[in-house]
Amino acid sequence: MNTHDSDWLKKTLRLKGFPEAQTPEEADIVLINTCSVRKKPEQKAYELISWLDSINPGILIGVGGCLAVQVGNGLFERSASIRLLFNSDTLSAVPEELKNLMDDQEKRLNLIHFPVFYPERNTVLPTKVEAGAFVNIMQGCDNACAYCIVPSVRGRQRSRNMEDILAECATLVEHGVKEITLLGQNVNSWAQDLWPKAGGKSFFSELLKALSKLDKLQRIRFTTSHPKDLSDDVIDAFTELPKLCPHLHLPLQSGSDKILKAMGRKYDMPRYRALATALRRARPDISITTDLIVGFPGETDQDFRDNLTAIKDLAFDASFSFKYNDRPGAPSASLPGKIAEKVKAERLAELQELQTGFTSTALQRMVGLKTEVLLEKESRKQDAERNSWQGRDPHNYVVNVCLPQPHNLIGATLPVRITEAKRHSLIGEPETGI
Ligand code: SAH
Ligand code: SF4
Repeated sequence: MNTHDSDWLKKTLRLKGFPEAQTPEEADIVLINTCSVRKKPEQKAYELISWLDSINPGILIGVGGCLAVQVGNGLFERSASIRLLFNSDTLSAVPEELKNLMDDQEKRLNLIHFPVFYPERNTVLPTKVEAGAFVNIMQGCDNACAYCIVPSVRGRQRSRNMEDILAECATLVEHGVKEITLLGQNVNSWAQDLWPKAGGKSFFSELLKALSKLDKLQRIRFTTSHPKDLSDDVIDAFTELPKLCPHLHLPLQSGSDKILKAMGRKYDMPRYRALATALRRARPDISITTDLIVGFPGETDQDFRDNLTAIKDLAFDASFSFKYNDRPGAPSASLPGKIAEKVKAERLAELQELQTGFTSTALQRMVGLKTEVLLEKESRKQDAERNSWQGRDPHNYVVNVCLPQPHNLIGATLPVRITEAKRHSLIGEPETGI
């Protein structure tokens, strides 16, 4: 969501007459869009602010995102260069306010605010061909996972109207976008703040159906899904809607029922396993990825072993795993039974090693198979004779493919045969004579 917000700001600022500086030393303004979901990104933001102050003392720094909300006016005390605070909900005011701040060097402004309804902003069109685009469908989160700072820094859930979502998607598709990823902290509860839930059905599946009717749109993805809100009609959508890609990121967080309960996740392992089974029945080739936290307060060795069992039983294609951190204001910060850093680090390493094996098996399974790759950009590593392109297949695997001719193929969908599996990506050869 931050990447998408930053992209919106970057494009809008360019349109409003703020050309991009080539280096931080020559910039008049630097905007830092922060994350504070874990301790590490918070520290990175502070390091960046100190560094900018040292290399460019007269600079205007704007701090946006969750850290700006978490610390608020306290950030003004950290550095005289920080003169603007904003959050995702107030992003659209940033370009105009930057002009005012440039005119009045004494001014400092805190734009942090949570409007009652979803704050619409202008759609910015791709300036060059882009294969995929993110589209926000909501702001905030109404859950209260014990470890999580998001509800306090992103506000209550506010869903965006279906017409506005579809209009933005239609515009993007008209401008060449082939893949749309719907974004929200908990997309499965989309619109439940606008209308009461109808007979166990989610409105989200209606949105998916409406979106899949956009003719030139080839692929639909969404993130993030909360297991407690993943309803049967969304699972059915994986069978019914061919444009819906066979990949779901479904954060498990812990494999122990005791810890899931303490986390306030409101599902248990039998429910999660049933969801995975239903998803695989709906779309047998679906790739399921997850998030896991190790070292939540009170996590015993047995609870940790339950995480490993979950990875083995559920055979995730990939997982993002984190050491638990206390976050300011999150309910678990005051829980007893904190786990030592060393233990957390050991548990994380063991879990990641196990996952590496499953990720490698999943990638290896693709070798020899035919898939379709939507090309997104030139690969970082280039081949001496041929041009290498990077894209994703429907399962969300990153695929690099070499092509003999140097055409710009961004946005093209290419039939590819997978020839090799790397650690986190695949190599393929084009199937047709391109
Ligand atoms: N809304 C999404 C996730 C948002 S945060 C969801 O519900 O899945 C992204 C991930 O960061 C979470 O899934 C969790 O695994 C991790 N995370 C959040 N708070 C954390 C904390 N205090 N310590 C460690 N990891 C955390
Ligand atoms: Fe945080 Fe839970 Fe909301 Fe995700 S669903 S953002 S983990 S409170």
